[in-house]
Amino acid sequence: MKNTPRLLLLLAIIAFMGAWLAFDLGSYFNLDFIKTQQAALEAWRTAKPLSAVVIYAGVYIAVTALSLPGAVIMTLAGGALFGLLWGTIIISFASSIGAMLAFLIARVLLHDWVQRRFGDKLGAINQGVEKDGAFYLFTLRLVPIFPFFIINLVMALTPMRAVTFYWVSQLGMLAGTIVYVNAGTQLARIDALEGILSPGLLASFALLGLFPLIARKAVEYIKRRKVYARWTRPQRFDRNLVAIGAGSAGLVTAYIAAAVKARVTLVEKHRMGGDCLNTGCVPSKALIRSAKFVSQARRADEFGMRHAHAEFDFAAVMERVQRVVQAVEPHDSVERYTRLGVEVIEGEAIITSPWTVQIRSGGKLQTLSTRNIVIATGARPFVPPIPGLEDVGYLTSDNVWDLRECPKRLIVLGGGPIGCELAQSFSRLGALVTQVEMLPRIMIREDPEVSQMVADRFVAEGVDLRTGHKAKRFLIENGEKLLICENLNRDNAEVRIPFDQVLVAVGRAANTSGLGLEELGIPLTRTRTVETNEYLQTLYPNIYACGDVAGPYQFTHTAAHQAWYATVNALFGCFKRFRADYSVIPWATFCEPEVARVGLNETEAGEKSIPYEVTTYGIDDLDRAIADSEAHGLVKVLTVPGKDKILGVTIVGEHAGDLIAEFVLAMRHGLGLNKILGTIHIYPTMAEANKYAAGNWKRAHAPQRLLRWVERYHAWVRG
Ligand SMILES: Cc1cc2nc3c(=O)[nH]c(=O)nc-3n(C[C@H](O)[C@H](O)[C@H](O)COP(=O)(O)OP(=O)(O)OC[C@H]3O[C@@H](n4cnc5c(N)ncnc54)[C@H](O)[C@@H]3O)c2cc1C
Repeated sequence: MKNTPRLLLLLAIIAFMGAWLAFDLGSYFNLDFIKTQQAALEAWRTAKPLSAVVIYAGVYIAVTALSLPGAVIMTLAGGALFGLLWGTIIISFASSIGAMLAFLIARVLLHDWVQRRFGDKLGAINQGVEKDGAFYLFTLRLVPIFPFFIINLVMALTPMRAVTFYWVSQLGMLAGTIVYVNAGTQLARIDALEGILSPGLLASFALLGLFPLIARKAVEYIKRRKVYARWTRPQRFDRNLVAIGAGSAGLVTAYIAAAVKARVTLVEKHRMGGDCLNTGCVPSKALIRSAKFVSQARRADEFGMRHAHAEFDFAAVMERVQRVVQAVEPHDSVERYTRLGVEVIEGEAIITSPWTVQIRSGGKLQTLSTRNIVIATGARPFVPPIPGLEDVGYLTSDNVWDLRECPKRLIVLGGGPIGCELAQSFSRLGALVTQVEMLPRIMIREDPEVSQMVADRFVAEGVDLRTGHKAKRFLIENGEKLLICENLNRDNAEVRIPFDQVLVAVGRAANTSGLGLEELGIPLTRTRTVETNEYLQTLYPNIYACGDVAGPYQFTHTAAHQAWYATVNALFGCFKRFRADYSVIPWATFCEPEVARVGLNETEAGEKSIPYEVTTYGIDDLDRAIADSEAHGLVKVLTVPGKDKILGVTIVGEHAGDLIAEFVLAMRHGLGLNKILGTIHIYPTMAEANKYAAGNWKRAHAPQRLLRWVERYHAWVRG
């Protein structure tokens, strides 16, 4: 809402309250006055019943809407005037409508400001209200010791829907209304308001109010019991925890469990280390490094070299990738984890009951009983059902590492992080790469200018970038493989792209089948990941899921982060449970220019209507970047308007993934840009870019008026 209507509303309220005070209207809303006027009021009601109802209800609504004192007296008067039945009906609606108006006024005036100012701290409350708000409101309404006007105001600041607020309020206030209206029918006998509600009656209301909450908890408990009802719980357990999958999530789960002396078994059906070590982060970064070397050799003249020619053998590059994987392998090996106290079983695990895991290794089957299970089975490349794809054959991030000959013409399907990293690497290593992306730009999660910076570089290096191109079908024509696309930028015109190999990198699908989840009835989300609650528990509270199989992020560091929560909640949840915290999640895409992000970017802030200020610093101006001939990129910081509080940062440029760490720390621990500016950064380093971004913010917020006085002061001391 714009500020003018808000201001008018505020002025109207102030004017009304001013009149209330100036004319001492409050004096008409006390017990003695009403009692003295009872006969006159009854006569008026008898003479003009309809007007009496309308005027009475109108005043009642105004008093409650403006949160003025007097609702109790009005209720008693209503009882005296209209009797128990009609009084209850009229007041029930008038009080609910008034409460609703008070709620809407507070929402219009304060909601946005409160959510903006305290939104980050209100996260848990907001979630609680979205989930259980109606129950809480009902309880508060039923117990008349909570002042109603405060309830109206407080609820308005939460995300509760106005309709929910109305009907729960009307229902919740009904019992209290009946009591007061009934008392009003005996108005002459009432000496003080305090007497109306006896402690016994209050206690009954409180119990009645708590009932829905208690009932809800009981239902949850029964539901939980019901989930387990068809299974026989073992008398005792062989293990405290079984982790299925030895990728980043499973390894960290097992590590933590062993560190706190739990008896833990880690089951892996394929290769220790999972995707990250074998087919993901490690090989891709090794390939990127070799490709970067080739690219730098091509830029030799920029560095003052007359001749530098990187003659390379693609197979040797791929062998190096494997050597890197082998060098990292011991970190995730069976031997290391066994030494750490983890029992490692190489085999395929199936969950056969909430407490049993069956493992098939070789021809042998064994069943382990365990108190807790952590599903950490990861994800695999998603292969879209594009006609002809199976016939032409395709590469994915699973098997691309087996290549020993560089494809001459390579299509990379997908413009996400994996597609970008591999497209650039293969292009640098000599493939003619066509990168096909259906969306209007690559790296769609990043801001448009960030995507553009990467796209510009790709095009400059010779990648044939086809954004807005939808792959329709693959075919082989006269022995040549062809991809038929629709060009969404040109009225879906057909585009034919010949190629030798296609690499599919259009997303990753969680590994959820063959695990026994269907038999246990463990539900999946819309995106086909295992559904968990905020504690990472599945439908069965002792079965957890973390990493790629649970989502929502698909990174090694988020898998490890979630693994901590899953393990600690599984082993110590009976004492204290921790909600997985996703408030500060960083990531990077390791193409050139490297792109790293933490928190919000402009696109997301806009989508979520979160107000922000942007400060940028161009890395082309940074001494170290200039010295390294890497003078490109930016640091882009989003802050709360007028404050140095960081909402999010995007960095594009050399070592962006390392540079962002300072902002991740700052956001995690609530440090603002002033603190970054006040920190010494070594000269000349790329990290200085962070400080200069903070400096740009500071300059934009310099107190101009004060500086003009300081200028005068300096002039004065000069004499
Ligand atoms: C090319 C590529 C590059 C990437 N680069 C990065 C990067 O730079 N940074 C980053 O953070 N992330 C990166 N990722 C993502 C990262 O690899 C994943 O997020 C991470 O591996 C997820 O770990 P996880 O433990 O959830 O799953 P995984 O690593 O997939 O591990 C799951 C394991 O479970 C095993 N398993 C499955 N079912 C069973 C079963 N029934 N019984 C026993 N074992 C089973 C599997 O064999 C597998 O080993 C990249 C991914 C790819 C593909």
